[in-house]
Amino acid sequence: MKKIAILGSTGSIGTQTLEIVREHKDIQVTALAAGSNVILLEQQIREFQPRLAVLWEEQAAKDLQVRVRDLDVKILFGMEGLLAIAVMPEVEILVTAIVGMLGIRPTIAAIEAGKTIALANKETLVTAGHIIMPLAKEKDVPILPVDSEHSAIFQSLNGEKGNSIHKILLTASGGPFRGKRREDLLQIRVEDALQHPNWSMGKKITIDSATMVNKGLEVMEAKWLFDVELEQIQVLVHPQSIIHSMVEYEDGAVLAQLGTPDMRLPIQYALYYPCRRSLSGKRLDFFQLASLTFEKPDLDTFPGLGLAFQAMKQGGNIPTVYNAANEKAVALFLEKKISFLEIPELIQFCMEQSAFVKQPDVAQILETEAAVYDLIESRW
Ligand code: NDP
Repeated sequence: MKKIAILGSTGSIGTQTLEIVREHKDIQVTALAAGSNVILLEQQIREFQPRLAVLWEEQAAKDLQVRVRDLDVKILFGMEGLLAIAVMPEVEILVTAIVGMLGIRPTIAAIEAGKTIALANKETLVTAGHIIMPLAKEKDVPILPVDSEHSAIFQSLNGEKGNSIHKILLTASGGPFRGKRREDLLQIRVEDALQHPNWSMGKKITIDSATMVNKGLEVMEAKWLFDVELEQIQVLVHPQSIIHSMVEYEDGAVLAQLGTPDMRLPIQYALYYPCRRSLSGKRLDFFQLASLTFEKPDLDTFPGLGLAFQAMKQGGNIPTVYNAANEKAVALFLEKKISFLEIPELIQFCMEQSAFVKQPDVAQILETEAAVYDLIESRW
């Protein structure tokens, strides 16, 4: 039986990971972690019986402790708890499905302890890819992508060892505002931005899809995961979300992975890699597919995508600035304190104002994040 632990078990990726565990019954869940959702974590503990469960908030962890006192499960809280999960001897695969840069330290600890990483938490690679990827190589630890586009690229690279990539074609749905112009987005409400046309996801990533910042983060993630130059990554708007991404090789051959939009597939692929297992759900019917279309991304309406390329080109701590500014801006937008169009404006402002650090260590990454938060709080 494979033994896994999930950081972020109550979220969109976390709950879908547990659906797969439920469906196949041959994976043991050793540990679970969430932020503050006591009720759902209690249900998950009762169903999956992990040995360790962690909540970020101390009081929530105390509540949980009382609720599960009839069970043989240890409860911890905070970063100490996340790090304890990362190094548990029995854990083979760590699913990193929390949001934000909080994922960096547990991911590093897990790699150092030799665990396979099923990586959903893209912020970890965006901000600390220069630390994570060499470390994973040194420790010979696989980083298996969970993000659907990166899983598609990973699947398209299978069996192609030694053949170099000419280009990565990273597909994007375009989000709910595809085809709109900047002036159409002046009055966008939170509810409008939360309507993703194809994927059902957590709130933060749904807003990131609407601004196309999510695609920007994915470009950075792809660069680290697949060790290519930024110029080799091309974003392609593909509104049907059927082709999840593609790889073009030197001979012009393009390999792609297609499927219905269902995050359980890339999650399952990472959990059972290199095996494929059966999966319930809809199948592609090519007779029903009217057409597959492709467009160039509109960088004027969605400047967040262009800023991501710029941040990655600048390197150092600037991708951290980009990510932190976006996190804060999305939170302010969800609280209805700033407008939709101000999200990329805030990111650009922070990229221009932040001090450059060439090769930031984890402490400097976290300091950069804090400085960006302070900068935004002082202005907005
Ligand atoms: P959600 O917001 O749905 O879930 C976040 C999870 O993280 C929840 O379990 C939450 O717990 C937990 N969490 C939040 N803060 C903390 C904390 N301080 N300590 C411990 N746990 C915490 O996010 P998603 O599942 O949508 O996304 C997770 C990651 O996966 C993100 O990095 C996202 O970019 C990436 N991703 C997501 C995809 C998707 O389809 N959703 C696709 C590809 C990548 P609680 O419920 O208690 O708040």
